[in-house]
Amino acid sequence: MSNKKLIVGNWKMNLTVHESSLYLHKLGGALKAHRSVEVVLAPSMLAVQSMSLQVERKLFKLASQNLFWKDEGAYTGEVSAHMLRGLVSYAIIGHSERRHIFGEHDKDVRNKVQAAVRHGITPILCVGETAHERAAKETTGVLHDQIVGGLANLTADEVAELVIAYEPVWAIGTGDNALPADVERAAHIIRRQVEHLYGRETAAAVRVLYGGSVSSQNASSYLAITAIDGLLVGGASLKVKEFEAIVEAAFAAGKR
Ligand code: PEP
Repeated sequence: MSNKKLIVGNWKMNLTVHESSLYLHKLGGALKAHRSVEVVLAPSMLAVQSMSLQVERKLFKLASQNLFWKDEGAYTGEVSAHMLRGLVSYAIIGHSERRHIFGEHDKDVRNKVQAAVRHGITPILCVGETAHERAAKETTGVLHDQIVGGLANLTADEVAELVIAYEPVWAIGTGDNALPADVERAAHIIRRQVEHLYGRETAAAVRVLYGGSVSSQNASSYLAITAIDGLLVGGASLKVKEFEAIVEAAFAAGKR
């Protein structure tokens, strides 16, 4: 757990290179005062390189929305951690859209997490249950499997550095955000699982985010949870004013 809140904007497949640059310019103007919040933007792969030249690193960091685990070779359409090295600080890995639309399994997720770590990129490992799994009361088991599957072969020191985002699939892009009490419970399940695998110190150090229909209206209710270190924001991160208000909420939460 860290005192510095981490706010990640996942733009998904939105914003052209030009629009991304404009967004960065506007947000940069608005954010000058918020040094105590770590703000990370995850643009499309196409905009990563130009944004990495434009970004004022004291204000923002960049994340990729995905990466491939092989360094190079005949993997048409893929971008490797090796290629992203130096351009991004974080990589979102195992997002539910990758798992459910593109068929990624825990083995793919694990390979990607390891490749990111190998190249000095901090993984933001996404975990979370579907509506069906939630109804069947399988949340604990799903989180257990995704954490064990995603983190295998890492050392305790490597796990301590990474970020785990609790993103219930039913809450993503639906407006049906999770109750803070359920998010708190999930964060404890995640930390308990990390503690079981890597020990108490690692479980306390790993950063846990919540993601799923976060808005400027509900952000504070999650940021008030001690076990939650920040937010992974999808739709609301596309609007500069709305994202700025979420960063503002994180700034206020950090001061408490
Ligand atoms: C996401 O893309 O990780 C996400 C949480 O999306 P949204 O905020 O739109 O639900």
